This record gives sequence, C-alpha cells and structure tokens, in this order.
Amino acid sequence: MSADDNPVRPLIAGNWKMHGRRADGAALAGELARRARRGGSAELRCDLVICPPATLLTALADIVADSPVALGAQDCHPLASGAHTGDISAAMLADAGCRYVIVGHSERRTLHGETDDVVRAKAEAAHAAGLVAVVCLGETEAQRAGGETLAVVDRQFRASLPKAATAANTVVAYEPVWAIGTGKVPTTAEIAAVHAQLRTLARGRVGEGERLRLLYGGSVKPGNAAEILAIANVNGALVGGASLEAGDFWTIARSCP
Ligand code: PEP
Repeated sequence: MSADDNPVRPLIAGNWKMHGRRADGAALAGELARRARRGGSAELRCDLVICPPATLLTALADIVADSPVALGAQDCHPLASGAHTGDISAAMLADAGCRYVIVGHSERRTLHGETDDVVRAKAEAAHAAGLVAVVCLGETEAQRAGGETLAVVDRQFRASLPKAATAANTVVAYEPVWAIGTGKVPTTAEIAAVHAQLRTLARGRVGEGERLRLLYGGSVKPGNAAEILAIANVNGALVGGASLEAGDFWTIARSCP
C-alpha cells in the first residue's frame, strides 16, 4: 500500500520501559526533539511520541515542548485520585504534559495480572483525562502455536477497548508477546492478517474506525521497519529497545511510507 492509499498519519511510539536516569533521558529526548524541530513533521511523515519512565515526565515535557515530539506514559491507574500507593492517575499524567498513555502492555498484563477489564478501565480513565490511550494486545507463543492468534486478538480488542473509543482518542498496538524483546518478528503475511482483522473490528466498533491507528510492536528495528510499516493497515510502530537510541528511533520514524 502506498502512502496515497493510506489516509492515516502513522504514529511511531517509543516505550522506554524502566530505562533512563535524568541525564540520559534528557539527552535522548533532546536529540529527538532537535532532529524533529530541524526536519519538521512534514519530513517525518509520522507523529512521534516517547514514553519514558514516570520520573522523567515533567523534565522531558519541557525538553520536547514546541517540537513535533509528544510525551506519553507507560501506564495509568483507572481512578482519578485516591488511596492507591505508588500509582499515578491519567489526570496526573495529563498535568505532567502527557498526550498519550500506553495501557495493557503485555508486561503489565503478565507481570501485574491486568485483565482486559482493567485495561479497558484504564483506557476510559485516559479518555476522561483527555489522553490518547495506546491499547496493547497480542498473543503468547503458546497461543500462536495453538493457532489461536486471531481469536485472542479478537477477544482482547472487543474487551479492552472502551465503548466510546474513537480514532481520535485511541490507538491499538498489536504486539505478539513472543516478539517483544526477542528479535523474532511475525512474517509480513501474519502481520497483515492480524491488522486486516483489527481494521474490520475497528470499522464495526470504533468511531471513525477506518482511521484508527493500528501499530505493530515487537522487535521493530531500523533494518525491518520499512518492510513492516509498508504492510496494509499498519499505521505505525510501538518500539521498545530500539527507542533507547536516538539514531535507531529516528531511522524507524523516517521509514514510514
Ligand atoms: C515493547 O516493549 O512494546 C516492544 C515492542 O519492545 P521491543 O521493540 O524491544 O520488542
């Protein structure tokens, strides 16, 4: 599919996970903002967002201000405030300068036991705070081996997205669990099949579903980004490891068709 056939502006999102102190986070964000300011969003052909650890959000908000680089968080609590030690609400993230928040990353689903219901509640909280929810879903290695990929993705999509999801307030990231941080990537045909199904679901369940941004995530690197980003219904990437190096992340962003 060429860029002309695809009216959706891609999104390249960097998930820094639990990486970064103030100095290296500021250097990485500063370098990306500098490149983006110089190149401008037209040269990029995509929107850019970085999702650093929560400790860096307010400092990086100042660094990327007035640049095409937006700020996102990696998680939020479903409630706006209250007795929830250690948690951060979506409203607080918005106050810290975020425009996006990732919810339902497989590391949260697996390591923190987050169910589809929890993920949906977090996405609703994100919307209430005016944030774009980046809802992650994807099958495990065992589910893939059992031929369950499309069924799992279908179930997660239906259960994890709020009823009020629209192309403006929601992004969906298809991240096969077995591809995250492993260097393994599904075939082009496998990604295309999942994204075609996601598009069909989006058309039926999401406001302006034709324009819902469907990201692929899982071992996206400078060397495979162009091929992945050219797949029909792939409207960007959620990037983990390769988002920690400005040159790699920039090359991925420049690979958008
Ligand atoms: C992720 O954590 O969302 C991710 C896709 O990681 P990586 O790019 O390192 O596989």
